[in-house]
Amino acid sequence: MLLTLTTTHRPATDLGFVLRKNPARAQSFNLNFGKAHVFYPEATEERCTMALLVEVDPVGLVRTRRGPSGEGGLLDQYVNDRPYAASSFLSVALADVFGTALTGQCLEKPKLGELAIPLRVELPALPCRGGDEFLRKLFEPLGYRVEAVRLPLDEASPEWGDSSYHRVVLEATLPVHQLLSHLYVLIPVLDNDKHYWVGDDEVSKLLRRGEGWLTAHPEREAIARRYLKHQRGLVSDALRQLIVDGEPDPDEAAEVQAAEEANVERGLSLNEQRLGTVLAALKGVGATSVLDLGCGEGRLLRQLYKDRQFKRIVGIDVSHRVLEMAADRLHYDRFSDAQKERLKILQGSLMYRDARLEGFDAAAVVEVIEHLDPPRLAAFERSVFEFARPGTVVVTTPNREYNVRWETLPAGRFRHRDHRFEWSRDEFQAWSRRVSERFGYTVRFLPVGPEDAEVGAPTQMGIFERRVA
Ligand code: SAH
Repeated sequence: MLLTLTTTHRPATDLGFVLRKNPARAQSFNLNFGKAHVFYPEATEERCTMALLVEVDPVGLVRTRRGPSGEGGLLDQYVNDRPYAASSFLSVALADVFGTALTGQCLEKPKLGELAIPLRVELPALPCRGGDEFLRKLFEPLGYRVEAVRLPLDEASPEWGDSSYHRVVLEATLPVHQLLSHLYVLIPVLDNDKHYWVGDDEVSKLLRRGEGWLTAHPEREAIARRYLKHQRGLVSDALRQLIVDGEPDPDEAAEVQAAEEANVERGLSLNEQRLGTVLAALKGVGATSVLDLGCGEGRLLRQLYKDRQFKRIVGIDVSHRVLEMAADRLHYDRFSDAQKERLKILQGSLMYRDARLEGFDAAAVVEVIEHLDPPRLAAFERSVFEFARPGTVVVTTPNREYNVRWETLPAGRFRHRDHRFEWSRDEFQAWSRRVSERFGYTVRFLPVGPEDAEVGAPTQMGIFERRVA
């Protein structure tokens, strides 16, 4: 997704001071859902344009549960408009990349921060649920001139009609920080699909970013409603505070946040997130043949089977009983021969070299290694990384550090009776690095589930990729 901001203030390159981004350089920033790039396609005395390009990483989306909250389930998480359309991701990128500018501070030229300068914003693909009429109702009261062209669903097929996306140009003479706050709040409001995973308190964010303009805005109710994803409790909270326009009560904010978190936990279980993240990783490396090692009852197999990218799928487990459950879950008895060719369920142990597991693009080993006691873990390492040797191996295991956050888990206990160990992040990473070194792989790590600043995420994942010889 792209946003450009142009000024004709003289000297126009002052924009670089206000944004604290040097017009002479292109810079990239890591976000927890992708990357943001800032560069200036033009930077002269007369005219200066800053471009913010945000790339959304689909694995990151699933990992942090910031995917769209539509009805489409998993499919929605992979096939959606989020990489292209201006949405709450753009807001987060704005706040991350231009945090200081949003506060109105300009270190090098203090007066510049508060100076109203001519600004022009272009958003090539802004979803406007509610049409351009609503767009105008949002921006015109704030002093913008609004230009909006509705985009067709597909230029090549005009008979399909229009989309809800608009190419939008906004012009106003304002201090940059005001414009940034307006965009920060109103882009997700227009999209009306703000990612509802709320890490910080959304009410106080809305009040902070809306300071000085939201209270008086004729559409403030609609704004609060959409910004807070129609969560009635939060909306009335926000509106009450908007009316008094005071600072929010921190205790109340914490309560609201806790309630939201509980809500979110209910919305998508850790198990689903884990599967989603593993699936995204397998898709991300472009695998078409995959192994599910220790496939258990076949939850991942079912997801893999639904995805046409995967042409050859093999699930293997040592336990007959769970394989029966997997077969049931998949309705394997109704499979045609061709379907059985595409997806095979094998009984076998990962302790032994097994020729049936050779020649695959990727393997998933989801919540399996912690079931193996140490001498057997060494055998597993060889059978997977030395003999089966898939191009990519995705391994997940519990993060022991997170256990203190499970209220129902007595201190010092494992999450499952059959677990032989549960590793801290350091322990898992040390093991992973050792395995990579020994067998010629590289490894990177991703957290799965809500990440806690102190103890990390409940599940840890390593993505091993075979080095080219
Ligand atoms: N991956 C599945 C199941 C995880 S439970 C999921 O995410 O739901 C761990 C699984 O590993 C069990 O089904 C167990 O039978 C299997 N397992 C344990 N030791 C194994 C071995 N030596 N070889 C193959 N599978 C094994």
